[in-house]
Amino acid sequence: MTQVPNSRVPVPTLERLATYLRLLHDLDQAHIETVSSSEVERQTGINAAQFRKDLSYFGEFGKPGVGYNVPELRQRITRILKIDRPKPVILIGAGNLGSALVGYPGLKEHQFELVAVFDNNYGKIGRPLWNLVIQDIARLKELNDSLKARIAILAVPASAAQDVCERLVDAGIRAILNFAPVLLRVPEGVYVRNVSFIQELAVLSYHLSEEEERERQQNGHNQADMAESHLTTLAAYAAAVEPEVPDRTEAPIES
Ligand code: ATP
Repeated sequence: MTQVPNSRVPVPTLERLATYLRLLHDLDQAHIETVSSSEVERQTGINAAQFRKDLSYFGEFGKPGVGYNVPELRQRITRILKIDRPKPVILIGAGNLGSALVGYPGLKEHQFELVAVFDNNYGKIGRPLWNLVIQDIARLKELNDSLKARIAILAVPASAAQDVCERLVDAGIRAILNFAPVLLRVPEGVYVRNVSFIQELAVLSYHLSEEEERERQQNGHNQADMAESHLTTLAAYAAAVEPEVPDRTEAPIES
């Protein structure tokens, strides 16, 4: 199983913790005080037993029969994921995707503070983007010396991604959320998470086409069943209207 280096916690557990955190955030906003593991299952699709097992890595949580205290669990998971204080994040590539991400309020809500955005296009450098001003990528290392961001969002085209990735590592970045459809080569100790819309869409599209195929086959069966039942009905009608056939074994009528 994938494991975070130097950690006993498997990556899928960390991913699920982030899902629980989203739910707890929503419940907290709605002033809901407690939540049961079966409610977590209902709302996230993650099995209740899995939820309890994920939490068991980090000690005792919840009370039997009472459930989990929402603000408390939220705070503890926030601490486990180490997002209990604002984390500076930088973004590279102020294109369509990058600009949308800069304007996404969810980042700040979850303590990821976008502190700078960089690009190499002189038509964009110096322009405002939401509450930031687009910076020259050439100044990445210099500016990040004082910003001290360790996380970067990469939203440049695939052709530029590896080169920018190396600059990021050189500027002290240790974690990259990569939106470019390319596998990045990074030194040990640098983490990359890839977000691939196209890959996800391709998987969804595959599921759909499988389902459509099943439906087509099912319709084929249904039609065959229907044809068969029509034939039975027809045979029944035919039998009903058919004149009675004389029994050939009967003795001929003698004249
Ligand atoms: P636009 O057409 O406005 O550039 P886009 O979303 O179609 O937007 P992409 O080609 O995907 O653009 O590029 C995303 C952004 O990445 C652009 O703003 C581009 O200028 C920037 N970019 C490309 N190469 C680099 C690089 N080496 N360093 C920094 N930024 C780069």
